[in-house]
Amino acid sequence: MFRRSGSMCASANVGARDRPMAGLYFHIPFCKRICSYCDFYKSADLRRMDEVLAAMGRELEAQRGYLGGEPIRTRYFGGGTPSLCTPAQIGELLARAADLFDCSAVGETTLEANPDDLDASRLEALRRAGVDRLSIGIQSLDDACLRLMNRRHTAVQAVEAVRAARRAGFDNVTVDLIFGIPGFGGDALRRSLDGVLELEVEHVSAYHLTVEPHTALGRRAARGEFAPVDEAVSEQEFATVHDALTQAGYEHYEVSNFARPGFRARHNAAYWHGEKYLGIGPAAHSYDGRERHWNVDSVDRYLAGEAAGHEILSDRDRFNEYVMTRLRTAEGIDLAEAEGLFGERRIGRLKAQARGMETGGALVSDGRRLAIPPRRFLVSDAVIGAFFEA
Ligand code: SF4
Repeated sequence: MFRRSGSMCASANVGARDRPMAGLYFHIPFCKRICSYCDFYKSADLRRMDEVLAAMGRELEAQRGYLGGEPIRTRYFGGGTPSLCTPAQIGELLARAADLFDCSAVGETTLEANPDDLDASRLEALRRAGVDRLSIGIQSLDDACLRLMNRRHTAVQAVEAVRAARRAGFDNVTVDLIFGIPGFGGDALRRSLDGVLELEVEHVSAYHLTVEPHTALGRRAARGEFAPVDEAVSEQEFATVHDALTQAGYEHYEVSNFARPGFRARHNAAYWHGEKYLGIGPAAHSYDGRERHWNVDSVDRYLAGEAAGHEILSDRDRFNEYVMTRLRTAEGIDLAEAEGLFGERRIGRLKAQARGMETGGALVSDGRRLAIPPRRFLVSDAVIGAFFEA
């Protein structure tokens, strides 16, 4: 049985849909243990947590004008591991934001969590603090696979975390899965998918393992102790994930994202649609509609107040980004909207280029939209790259 998310929040958001709205992102860069595949900026020095949270409060204050007065639609705690914060710390950041920004129309407040951080009292306190959507990093329901990834939870803990979230009243839960892990395709992947389907979560994000050089897996690969899966296996596992989830009623609405109807991630969709967002914390990124800013990816330098980097997006950057983000979604490019933004000539060229790809099935069009069929999303980069302007 799937429930809709909080009706009061949903109706507030519908009323505000025509106004430009923005997102607020908090980056909590701390992790207790480093996953073997992780290439994100993070710090295992948890002693700096209080200092960083205090600095994030000050950054919120300093950035109060960044969104130009636009109301906040979504709030998101990502990391790192935001579930290492106490619910009181989360509540303080939300309260500070509500003092500084118009948060009256917020329709989604997500917190990323590791399964072993979630017990009943913490979950209830997080709900009271204002979190209404949990993103739980399950990754796999196979203990050997979790050990390979150096995750700090077991499959049983992952399942129990989702059940505990339900008991605490969370009716909007998303889980992360990783596929393309050597030795854990086939039956192991199928068992993870079956386990996730049994949990009846509202949303699933499924990512292919990427072996980056500066990770534990990358170092093992360089020593010849670990080999990433080949392309045929990648495609097969992507198809397995796609088929299992779509047959169970999930929409494959973005390359890595699947949702029950009505439960697409609103915060991420704002990134894909070029809406403004303010990112707070070390390594957080922001976008004010014209320029992109990013904080330094170092706790020490962030605490020392080092200035953020920034870039002004050129017209070509905006075009390439528009094509990339839209073609990564099931809706694809709305051709009339694209013509309005980038002109008839440019979009005419794009349509002409697309015709050859439609014949091969890499793209579909009904004359109004141009999209990559979700089952072909895995190879979307090659299709998208063909449209990029140099
Ligand atoms: S919990 Fe997330 S951010 Fe932390 S090490 Fe693991 S993958 Fe990286």
